[in-house]
Amino acid sequence: MSERSAAEVVEAVAGAFTRLVGREPAGVWSAPGRVNLIGEHTDYNDGLCLPIALPQRTYAAASLRADGRLRVHSLQRDETVEVTLAEVTPERPGGWAAYVAGVLWALGRSGQRVGGLDVVIDSTVPVGAGLSSSAALECSVAAAADELFGLGLMGSAEGRERLARACMAAENVIAGAPTGGLDQTAALGCRERAALLLDCRSGETRQVPFDPARHGHALLVTDTRAEHALVDGQYAARRQSCEEAARLLGVPTLRDVPVSGLEAAVTRLPSDEMRARVRHVVTEIDRVGRAAAALEAGDLAQVGRLFDASHASLRDAYEVSCAELDVATETARAQGALGARMTGGGFGGSCIALVPAGSVEAVSVAIAAAFEERGFAPPASFAVVASGSARRDA
Ligand code: ADP
Ligand code: MG
Repeated sequence: MSERSAAEVVEAVAGAFTRLVGREPAGVWSAPGRVNLIGEHTDYNDGLCLPIALPQRTYAAASLRADGRLRVHSLQRDETVEVTLAEVTPERPGGWAAYVAGVLWALGRSGQRVGGLDVVIDSTVPVGAGLSSSAALECSVAAAADELFGLGLMGSAEGRERLARACMAAENVIAGAPTGGLDQTAALGCRERAALLLDCRSGETRQVPFDPARHGHALLVTDTRAEHALVDGQYAARRQSCEEAARLLGVPTLRDVPVSGLEAAVTRLPSDEMRARVRHVVTEIDRVGRAAAALEAGDLAQVGRLFDASHASLRDAYEVSCAELDVATETARAQGALGARMTGGGFGGSCIALVPAGSVEAVSVAIAAAFEERGFAPPASFAVVASGSARRDA
Protein backbone atom coordinates (compact mmCIF):
# COMPACT_ATOMS: atom_id res chain seq x y z
CA MET A 1 0.00 0.00 0.00
CA SER A 2 1.29 3.41 -0.95
CA GLU A 3 2.04 5.76 1.94
CA ARG A 4 2.37 8.81 -0.31
CA SER A 5 0.34 11.91 0.58
CA ALA A 6 -2.11 13.45 -1.87
CA ALA A 7 0.20 16.43 -2.41
CA GLU A 8 3.11 14.13 -3.23
CA VAL A 9 1.12 12.14 -5.77
CA VAL A 10 -0.27 15.30 -7.39
CA GLU A 11 3.28 16.61 -7.80
CA ALA A 12 4.55 13.24 -9.04
CA VAL A 13 1.85 12.79 -11.66
CA ALA A 14 2.14 16.39 -12.91
CA GLY A 15 5.93 15.96 -13.13
CA ALA A 16 5.58 12.68 -15.00
CA PHE A 17 3.12 14.32 -17.42
CA THR A 18 5.57 17.14 -18.15
CA ARG A 19 8.36 14.62 -18.78
CA LEU A 20 6.30 12.24 -20.92
CA VAL A 21 4.17 14.72 -22.88
CA GLY A 22 6.66 17.60 -23.13
CA ARG A 23 4.43 20.31 -21.63
CA GLU A 24 2.66 20.96 -18.34
CA PRO A 25 -0.77 19.36 -17.80
CA ALA A 26 -3.85 21.59 -17.86
CA GLY A 27 -4.71 20.15 -14.45
CA VAL A 28 -4.78 17.14 -12.14
CA TRP A 29 -8.04 15.44 -11.16
CA SER A 30 -8.62 12.52 -8.82
CA ALA A 31 -11.24 10.06 -7.65
CA PRO A 32 -11.29 7.70 -4.65
CA GLY A 33 -11.48 3.95 -4.22
CA ARG A 34 -14.30 2.75 -1.96
CA VAL A 35 -15.31 0.15 0.57
CA ASN A 36 -18.86 -0.95 1.03
CA LEU A 37 -19.68 -0.84 4.76
CA ILE A 38 -22.59 -3.25 4.38
CA GLY A 39 -25.00 -4.49 1.71
CA GLU A 40 -23.20 -7.23 -0.22
CA HIS A 41 -24.68 -8.95 -3.28
CA THR A 42 -27.68 -6.66 -2.89
CA ASP A 43 -27.11 -4.38 -5.90
CA TYR A 44 -28.30 -6.81 -8.57
CA ASN A 45 -31.35 -7.56 -6.38
CA ASP A 46 -32.42 -3.88 -6.47
CA GLY A 47 -31.38 -3.58 -2.82
CA LEU A 48 -29.45 -1.15 -0.65
CA CYS A 49 -25.72 -0.65 -0.06
CA LEU A 50 -23.64 1.75 2.00
CA PRO A 51 -20.19 2.63 0.61
CA ILE A 52 -17.63 5.17 1.81
CA ALA A 53 -14.91 6.76 -0.33
CA LEU A 54 -11.35 5.85 0.69
CA PRO A 55 -8.47 8.28 1.23
CA GLN A 56 -6.67 6.22 -1.45
CA ARG A 57 -7.21 7.87 -4.83
CA THR A 58 -6.34 7.64 -8.50
CA TYR A 59 -4.93 10.82 -10.06
CA ALA A 60 -5.17 11.85 -13.71
CA ALA A 61 -2.97 14.65 -15.06
CA ALA A 62 -4.51 15.68 -18.37
CA SER A 63 -4.53 18.12 -21.27
CA LEU A 64 -6.52 18.46 -24.48
CA ARG A 65 -5.22 17.12 -27.79
CA ALA A 66 -6.43 18.45 -31.10
CA ASP A 67 -6.22 15.20 -33.12
CA GLY A 68 -9.04 13.10 -31.62
CA ARG A 69 -6.59 10.64 -30.12
CA LEU A 70 -6.20 9.45 -26.53
CA ARG A 71 -2.66 8.92 -25.31
CA VAL A 72 -2.59 7.55 -21.78
CA HIS A 73 0.27 6.44 -19.55
CA SER A 74 -0.08 4.61 -16.22
CA LEU A 75 2.76 4.95 -13.74
CA GLN A 76 1.54 1.71 -12.13
CA ARG A 77 1.89 -0.16 -15.43
CA ASP A 78 4.84 1.87 -16.78
CA GLU A 79 3.12 1.74 -20.15
CA THR A 80 1.76 4.23 -22.71
CA VAL A 81 -1.25 3.32 -24.86
CA GLU A 82 -2.53 5.35 -27.80
CA VAL A 83 -5.87 5.01 -29.57
CA THR A 84 -8.05 7.06 -31.92
CA LEU A 85 -11.31 7.77 -30.08
CA ALA A 86 -13.49 6.98 -33.08
CA GLU A 87 -11.94 3.48 -33.13
CA VAL A 88 -12.55 2.53 -29.49
CA THR A 89 -14.27 -0.88 -29.18
CA PRO A 90 -14.33 -3.69 -26.58
CA GLU A 91 -11.22 -5.03 -28.38
CA ARG A 92 -9.40 -1.71 -28.79
CA PRO A 93 -7.33 -0.54 -26.95
CA GLY A 94 -8.03 -3.51 -24.61
CA GLY A 95 -6.25 -4.05 -21.28
CA TRP A 96 -6.13 -1.41 -18.58
CA ALA A 97 -6.42 1.53 -21.03
CA ALA A 98 -9.93 0.32 -21.91
CA TYR A 99 -11.12 1.84 -18.61
CA VAL A 100 -9.83 5.26 -19.72
CA ALA A 101 -10.81 5.08 -23.40
CA GLY A 102 -14.18 3.67 -22.36
CA VAL A 103 -15.05 6.81 -20.40
CA LEU A 104 -14.51 9.07 -23.42
CA TRP A 105 -16.33 6.55 -25.62
CA ALA A 106 -19.33 6.45 -23.26
CA LEU A 107 -19.48 10.24 -22.88
CA GLY A 108 -19.41 10.57 -26.67
CA ARG A 109 -22.13 7.95 -27.06
CA SER A 110 -24.33 9.81 -24.58
CA GLY A 111 -24.19 12.91 -26.76
CA GLN A 112 -21.39 14.84 -25.04
CA ARG A 113 -18.82 16.60 -27.21
CA VAL A 114 -15.48 15.05 -26.23
CA GLY A 115 -12.18 14.80 -28.10
CA GLY A 116 -8.56 13.77 -27.71
CA LEU A 117 -6.61 13.85 -24.45
CA ASP A 118 -3.13 13.29 -23.10
CA VAL A 119 -3.46 11.58 -19.71
CA VAL A 120 -0.95 10.33 -17.13
CA ILE A 121 -2.27 8.16 -14.30
CA ASP A 122 -0.87 7.63 -10.81
CA SER A 123 -2.69 5.92 -7.95
CA THR A 124 -2.59 4.94 -4.29
CA VAL A 125 -5.58 2.58 -4.58
CA PRO A 126 -4.54 -1.10 -4.29
CA VAL A 127 -5.40 -2.72 -7.63
CA GLY A 128 -7.65 -5.79 -7.68
CA ALA A 129 -8.21 -5.74 -3.88
CA GLY A 130 -11.95 -5.19 -4.18
CA LEU A 131 -11.45 -1.50 -3.32
CA SER A 132 -12.50 -0.36 -6.78
CA SER A 133 -9.34 0.91 -8.40
CA SER A 134 -11.24 0.50 -11.68
CA ALA A 135 -13.94 3.05 -10.81
CA ALA A 136 -11.33 5.37 -9.29
CA LEU A 137 -9.51 5.30 -12.64
CA GLU A 138 -12.68 5.88 -14.65
CA CYS A 139 -13.98 8.67 -12.45
CA SER A 140 -10.65 10.54 -12.31
CA VAL A 141 -10.71 10.62 -16.10
CA ALA A 142 -14.40 11.59 -16.12
CA ALA A 143 -13.67 14.55 -13.81
CA ALA A 144 -10.82 15.65 -16.10
CA ALA A 145 -12.97 15.27 -19.22
CA ASP A 146 -15.86 17.15 -17.61
CA GLU A 147 -13.74 20.24 -17.06
CA LEU A 148 -11.48 20.08 -20.13
CA PHE A 149 -14.42 19.65 -22.52
CA GLY A 150 -16.62 22.06 -20.56
CA LEU A 151 -19.38 19.50 -19.93
CA GLY A 152 -20.40 21.05 -16.61
CA LEU A 153 -21.66 17.74 -15.21
CA MET A 154 -19.59 17.70 -12.00
CA GLY A 155 -21.47 20.73 -10.71
CA SER A 156 -24.80 19.05 -10.04
CA ALA A 157 -26.08 15.80 -8.54
CA GLU A 158 -27.85 14.90 -11.80
CA GLY A 159 -24.70 15.65 -13.78
CA ARG A 160 -22.64 13.41 -11.52
CA GLU A 161 -25.21 10.67 -11.99
CA ARG A 162 -24.74 10.98 -15.74
CA LEU A 163 -20.97 10.81 -15.33
CA ALA A 164 -21.39 7.72 -13.13
CA ARG A 165 -23.53 6.07 -15.80
CA ALA A 166 -20.88 6.83 -18.45
CA CYS A 167 -18.16 5.32 -16.23
CA MET A 168 -20.32 2.25 -15.63
CA ALA A 169 -20.87 1.86 -19.39
CA ALA A 170 -17.10 2.17 -19.90
CA GLU A 171 -16.53 -0.68 -17.45
CA ASN A 172 -19.38 -2.87 -18.72
CA VAL A 173 -19.06 -2.39 -22.46
CA ILE A 174 -15.46 -1.42 -23.23
CA ALA A 175 -13.56 -3.03 -20.33
CA GLY A 176 -15.98 -5.98 -20.36
CA ALA A 177 -16.57 -6.22 -16.59
CA PRO A 178 -20.26 -6.80 -15.72
CA THR A 179 -20.57 -4.69 -12.55
CA GLY A 180 -23.35 -2.58 -11.09
CA GLY A 181 -23.14 1.17 -10.49
CA LEU A 182 -22.13 1.11 -6.82
CA ASP A 183 -18.44 1.85 -7.37
CA GLN A 184 -18.91 4.77 -9.74
CA THR A 185 -21.74 6.28 -7.70
CA ALA A 186 -19.50 6.15 -4.61
CA ALA A 187 -16.47 7.64 -6.38
CA LEU A 188 -18.60 10.55 -7.64
CA GLY A 189 -21.03 11.00 -4.75
CA CYS A 190 -19.40 10.23 -1.39
CA ARG A 191 -18.60 12.96 1.13
CA GLU A 192 -16.04 13.23 3.93
CA ARG A 193 -17.06 11.65 7.24
CA ALA A 194 -20.15 10.16 5.60
CA ALA A 195 -21.35 6.94 4.02
CA LEU A 196 -23.61 6.98 0.99
CA LEU A 197 -26.84 5.03 1.40
CA LEU A 198 -27.65 3.95 -2.14
CA ASP A 199 -30.98 2.51 -3.20
CA CYS A 200 -30.10 0.42 -6.26
CA ARG A 201 -33.76 0.31 -7.36
CA SER A 202 -34.58 4.01 -7.43
CA GLY A 203 -31.01 5.32 -7.71
CA GLU A 204 -31.75 7.55 -4.71
CA THR A 205 -28.90 8.35 -2.35
CA ARG A 206 -28.67 9.71 1.20
CA GLN A 207 -25.63 10.86 3.15
CA VAL A 208 -25.29 9.08 6.50
CA PRO A 209 -22.73 10.28 9.07
CA PHE A 210 -19.76 7.92 9.35
CA ASP A 211 -17.02 9.12 11.68
CA PRO A 212 -15.97 6.27 14.01
CA ALA A 213 -13.12 8.42 15.39
CA ARG A 214 -15.79 10.41 17.25
CA HIS A 215 -16.56 7.20 19.14
CA GLY A 216 -12.90 6.29 19.73
CA HIS A 217 -12.87 3.76 16.90
CA ALA A 218 -11.33 3.35 13.45
CA LEU A 219 -12.28 1.44 10.33
CA LEU A 220 -9.52 -1.02 9.52
CA VAL A 221 -9.32 -2.39 5.97
CA THR A 222 -7.40 -5.60 5.36
CA ASP A 223 -6.50 -6.51 1.79
CA THR A 224 -6.21 -10.29 2.14
CA ARG A 225 -4.27 -10.55 -1.16
CA ALA A 226 -6.20 -13.77 -1.65
CA GLU A 227 -7.21 -14.61 -5.19
CA HIS A 228 -9.38 -17.59 -5.83
CA ALA A 229 -10.31 -19.12 -9.15
CA LEU A 230 -13.95 -19.47 -10.25
CA VAL A 231 -14.90 -16.02 -8.96
CA ASP A 232 -16.71 -15.01 -12.15
CA GLY A 233 -18.56 -18.31 -12.40
CA GLN A 234 -19.64 -18.15 -8.76
CA TYR A 235 -20.85 -14.56 -9.16
CA ALA A 236 -22.93 -15.52 -12.20
CA ALA A 237 -24.35 -18.54 -10.37
CA ARG A 238 -25.43 -16.43 -7.36
CA ARG A 239 -27.03 -13.88 -9.62
CA GLN A 240 -28.89 -16.54 -11.54
CA SER A 241 -30.10 -18.18 -8.34
CA CYS A 242 -31.55 -14.85 -7.16
CA GLU A 243 -33.29 -14.24 -10.47
CA GLU A 244 -34.73 -17.75 -10.48
CA ALA A 245 -35.95 -17.37 -6.89
CA ALA A 246 -37.64 -14.05 -7.70
CA ARG A 247 -39.33 -15.66 -10.68
CA LEU A 248 -40.58 -18.57 -8.55
CA LEU A 249 -41.87 -16.14 -5.91
CA GLY A 250 -43.60 -14.05 -8.56
CA VAL A 251 -41.82 -10.79 -7.73
CA PRO A 252 -39.68 -8.56 -10.00
CA THR A 253 -36.61 -8.89 -7.72
CA LEU A 254 -35.78 -10.10 -4.21
CA ARG A 255 -36.12 -6.47 -3.07
CA ASP A 256 -39.83 -7.16 -3.13
CA VAL A 257 -39.60 -9.86 -0.44
CA PRO A 258 -40.06 -8.11 2.93
CA VAL A 259 -37.99 -9.48 5.81
CA SER A 260 -41.23 -10.03 7.77
CA GLY A 261 -42.51 -12.37 5.06
CA LEU A 262 -39.19 -14.10 4.41
CA GLU A 263 -39.79 -17.47 6.08
CA ALA A 264 -43.23 -17.85 4.56
CA ALA A 265 -41.80 -17.01 1.13
CA VAL A 266 -38.84 -19.39 1.21
CA THR A 267 -41.07 -22.41 1.94
CA ARG A 268 -42.18 -22.03 -1.69
CA LEU A 269 -38.64 -22.53 -3.02
CA PRO A 270 -37.38 -25.90 -4.25
CA SER A 271 -34.01 -26.31 -2.47
CA ASP A 272 -32.21 -25.56 0.78
CA GLU A 273 -29.54 -23.85 -1.26
CA MET A 274 -31.94 -21.42 -2.91
CA ARG A 275 -33.67 -20.75 0.41
CA ALA A 276 -30.29 -19.87 1.93
CA ARG A 277 -29.40 -17.54 -0.94
CA VAL A 278 -32.71 -15.69 -0.58
CA ARG A 279 -32.33 -15.47 3.20
CA HIS A 280 -28.98 -13.75 2.74
CA VAL A 281 -30.22 -11.18 0.25
CA VAL A 282 -33.41 -10.28 2.12
CA THR A 283 -31.78 -10.05 5.56
CA GLU A 284 -28.77 -8.18 4.15
CA ILE A 285 -30.99 -5.48 2.61
CA ASP A 286 -32.68 -5.18 6.00
CA ARG A 287 -29.29 -4.90 7.73
CA VAL A 288 -28.27 -1.99 5.49
CA GLY A 289 -31.30 -0.01 6.56
CA ARG A 290 -30.64 -0.83 10.20
CA ALA A 291 -26.94 0.06 9.89
CA ALA A 292 -27.83 3.45 8.39
CA ALA A 293 -30.27 4.06 11.26
CA ALA A 294 -27.66 3.00 13.84
CA LEU A 295 -25.10 5.40 12.33
CA GLU A 296 -27.64 8.20 12.42
CA ALA A 297 -28.27 7.37 16.09
CA GLY A 298 -24.53 7.22 16.85
CA ASP A 299 -24.79 3.55 17.90
CA LEU A 300 -21.49 2.15 16.60
CA ALA A 301 -21.80 -1.05 18.68
CA GLN A 302 -24.96 -1.91 16.77
CA VAL A 303 -23.17 -1.27 13.47
CA GLY A 304 -20.51 -3.75 14.64
CA ARG A 305 -23.15 -6.39 15.41
CA LEU A 306 -24.63 -5.89 11.95
CA PHE A 307 -21.13 -6.32 10.39
CA ASP A 308 -20.82 -9.68 12.18
CA ALA A 309 -24.29 -10.81 11.11
CA SER A 310 -23.55 -9.78 7.52
CA HIS A 311 -20.33 -11.78 7.49
CA ALA A 312 -21.99 -14.88 8.93
CA SER A 313 -24.73 -14.65 6.32
CA LEU A 314 -22.23 -14.23 3.45
CA ARG A 315 -20.17 -17.16 4.77
CA ASP A 316 -22.91 -19.63 5.65
CA ALA A 317 -25.96 -18.75 3.55
CA TYR A 318 -24.49 -17.08 0.44
CA GLU A 319 -21.22 -19.08 0.58
CA VAL A 320 -18.96 -16.42 -0.92
CA SER A 321 -16.37 -16.08 1.86
CA CYS A 322 -13.02 -17.88 1.95
CA ALA A 323 -10.51 -18.98 4.59
CA GLU A 324 -8.52 -15.73 4.44
CA LEU A 325 -11.62 -13.55 4.92
CA ASP A 326 -12.85 -15.75 7.78
CA VAL A 327 -9.47 -15.71 9.55
CA ALA A 328 -9.09 -11.94 9.16
CA THR A 329 -12.57 -11.20 10.52
CA GLU A 330 -12.29 -13.73 13.39
CA THR A 331 -8.91 -12.35 14.41
CA ALA A 332 -10.20 -8.77 14.38
CA ARG A 333 -13.10 -9.79 16.62
CA ALA A 334 -10.82 -11.67 19.00
CA GLN A 335 -8.72 -8.47 19.23
CA GLY A 336 -11.70 -6.41 20.38
CA ALA A 337 -13.30 -5.24 17.12
CA LEU A 338 -16.95 -4.17 17.48
CA GLY A 339 -17.58 -6.17 14.32
CA ALA A 340 -15.90 -7.36 11.14
CA ARG A 341 -16.99 -8.53 7.72
CA MET A 342 -15.83 -9.32 4.24
CA THR A 343 -16.53 -6.52 1.77
CA GLY A 344 -16.95 -6.84 -1.99
CA GLY A 345 -17.96 -9.88 -3.97
CA GLY A 346 -15.99 -12.38 -1.90
CA PHE A 347 -13.59 -15.30 -2.58
CA GLY A 348 -10.74 -12.95 -1.66
CA GLY A 349 -10.47 -9.18 -1.74
CA SER A 350 -10.70 -7.17 1.47
CA CYS A 351 -12.39 -7.21 4.86
CA ILE A 352 -13.28 -4.35 7.20
CA ALA A 353 -13.39 -4.14 10.99
CA LEU A 354 -14.49 -1.47 13.46
CA VAL A 355 -11.62 -1.48 15.95
CA PRO A 356 -10.77 0.68 18.98
CA ALA A 357 -8.60 3.55 17.73
CA GLY A 358 -5.80 2.48 20.06
CA SER A 359 -5.60 -1.06 18.69
CA VAL A 360 -5.24 -0.45 14.93
CA GLU A 361 -1.62 -1.59 15.06
CA ALA A 362 -2.29 -4.58 17.36
CA VAL A 363 -5.15 -5.87 15.20
CA SER A 364 -3.07 -5.45 12.01
CA VAL A 365 -0.18 -7.38 13.57
CA ALA A 366 -2.50 -10.12 14.87
CA ILE A 367 -4.09 -10.61 11.43
CA ALA A 368 -0.66 -10.78 9.80
CA ALA A 369 0.46 -13.36 12.39
CA ALA A 370 -2.69 -15.45 11.90
CA PHE A 371 -2.10 -15.42 8.13
CA GLU A 372 1.52 -16.47 8.54
CA GLU A 373 0.54 -19.30 10.85
CA ARG A 374 -1.79 -20.70 8.21
CA GLY A 375 0.62 -20.21 5.32
CA PHE A 376 -1.45 -17.46 3.62
CA ALA A 377 0.25 -14.66 1.68
CA PRO A 378 0.97 -11.57 3.87
CA PRO A 379 -2.09 -9.26 4.05
CA ALA A 380 -2.03 -5.44 4.05
CA SER A 381 -4.02 -3.64 6.77
CA PHE A 382 -4.62 0.10 6.98
CA ALA A 383 -7.05 2.37 8.82
CA VAL A 384 -9.19 4.60 6.60
CA VAL A 385 -11.46 7.61 7.06
CA ALA A 386 -14.50 8.34 4.92
CA SER A 387 -13.21 10.70 2.24
CA GLY A 388 -14.48 12.95 -0.51
CA SER A 389 -15.47 12.14 -4.09
CA ALA A 390 -13.90 13.06 -7.44
CA ARG A 391 -12.37 16.54 -7.58
CA ARG A 392 -9.78 18.76 -9.19
CA ASP A 393 -6.49 18.76 -7.25
CA ALA A 394 -4.26 21.13 -9.23
P1 ADP B 1 -10.69 -3.37 -8.36
O1 ADP B 1 -11.56 -2.36 -9.02
O2 ADP B 1 -11.36 -4.05 -7.24
O3 ADP B 1 -9.37 -2.83 -7.96
P2 ADP B 1 -10.92 -4.53 -10.96
O4 ADP B 1 -10.53 -5.85 -11.52
O5 ADP B 1 -12.31 -4.09 -11.08
O6 ADP B 1 -10.41 -4.51 -9.44
O7 ADP B 1 -10.05 -3.39 -11.65
C1 ADP B 1 -8.65 -3.49 -11.71
C2 ADP B 1 -8.18 -3.13 -13.11
O8 ADP B 1 -8.34 -1.71 -13.32
C3 ADP B 1 -6.71 -3.40 -13.33
O9 ADP B 1 -6.49 -4.73 -13.74
C4 ADP B 1 -6.39 -2.42 -14.44
O10 ADP B 1 -6.82 -2.89 -15.70
C5 ADP B 1 -7.28 -1.21 -14.08
N1 ADP B 1 -6.54 -0.23 -13.25
C6 ADP B 1 -6.89 0.19 -12.02
N2 ADP B 1 -6.01 1.12 -11.55
C7 ADP B 1 -5.08 1.27 -12.51
C8 ADP B 1 -3.89 2.09 -12.64
N3 ADP B 1 -3.50 2.91 -11.67
N4 ADP B 1 -3.19 1.98 -13.79
C9 ADP B 1 -3.59 1.15 -14.78
N5 ADP B 1 -4.67 0.37 -14.71
C10 ADP B 1 -5.42 0.41 -13.60
MG1 MG C 1 -13.40 -2.77 -10.00
